[in-house]
Amino acid sequence: MPELTPETVQAAIESYPDPETGRPIGSMGQIKEITVDGQSTTITIGITTHSRPIADEVADRIESKVAAALPGTKVEVKFVDHTRPPARLGQVGIRVKSVIAVGSGKGGVGKSTVAASIALTLRQMGSKVGLMDSDVYGPSVPHLLGLSGRPAVSEEKKIQPIMLNGPGELPPMPVMSMGFLVEADQAVIWRGPMLHGSINQFLGDTNWGELDYLVIDLPPGTGDVVLTLSQALPLAGSVVVCTPQEVALLDAIKAISMFRKVNIPILGMVENMSGFMCPDCGKTYDIFGRGGARDRAEELKVPFLGGLPIEMNLRIAGDEGRLAEELAENTQARAPIEAISKALVRTIAAKAAQNPPKPALPTL
Ligand code: ADP
Repeated sequence: MPELTPETVQAAIESYPDPETGRPIGSMGQIKEITVDGQSTTITIGITTHSRPIADEVADRIESKVAAALPGTKVEVKFVDHTRPPARLGQVGIRVKSVIAVGSGKGGVGKSTVAASIALTLRQMGSKVGLMDSDVYGPSVPHLLGLSGRPAVSEEKKIQPIMLNGPGELPPMPVMSMGFLVEADQAVIWRGPMLHGSINQFLGDTNWGELDYLVIDLPPGTGDVVLTLSQALPLAGSVVVCTPQEVALLDAIKAISMFRKVNIPILGMVENMSGFMCPDCGKTYDIFGRGGARDRAEELKVPFLGGLPIEMNLRIAGDEGRLAEELAENTQARAPIEAISKALVRTIAAKAAQNPPKPALPTL
């Protein structure tokens, strides 16, 4: 059996793929320090804010790598921040690492609630996140987050997004929505080219800053916005939200085939409103059935990211514009969204590991 030394530990872990880039951590300068003391080793790994949400899983994997190569070793994995700025993405050139579009086959299945909750939870787990509401027909993100105001335009003609500040110490989150530009009761009639132009403006002319994730709430159903997005920039992928009923599932299948048509990868399905736990008796009622989306996801060969039960507090908080506060305080309501958000990051990491970008050519 090999002896426990910093070199043997290094050899055991250096090929582990960095979750963000898919390249071996040993080649990315992310093994910061390895110390050995008797039969114990402490490994310090550099992790980017993009991968922070799954840091626990990364630690587990690294521990098992060491356990397999050097049985009987006691392993402690510590993390330090590793900075890697995002490259410019697509023809709009925004500095975002992963763009996630959240869609649904039809309205009312909780798509906006899920999109906003994923954005808020990724931010809470340490990533830099922005939220774009591209549902130009019925923008509901400003309402869910209690945001209002008109985005200012800077001298460089950049739109300043509305910032969601807090709650607590959380960093401000940039949010952009058509709801900030038109009155709530004003009907907007969009013609194709106008829609195309405004989505591109929302993406490219907004001062998003540097982000790990930009979550985009799509309009329900199939349509022009998705086509525009697919032309503007490469997306990490899409999330399809549905409820467990058969009709909603059929609509979700249509949404999946639309994403496939425009070559947007499907990151997975989320089953919303799967079950209701009665707050009085603690009994769970499967109002719309349960598990339908999981079965369908399997049939369609797309990942199932998780289910979100009907949670009255989430509904009330959303209606009152306190979704961010509720998710920050209510760990029970947050738990399923955390699981879904981690599954998303894990799926993005798995794709990166399958297809790591080629190392940059040395400059001559
Ligand atoms: P969509 O974007 O699909 O039209 P919304 O996100 O606007 O749907 O949600 C529709 C309604 O359902 C809102 O009142 C929202 O608060 C509520 N809702 C969504 N998901 C849940 C959930 N898991 N538990 C309770 N209420 C929910």
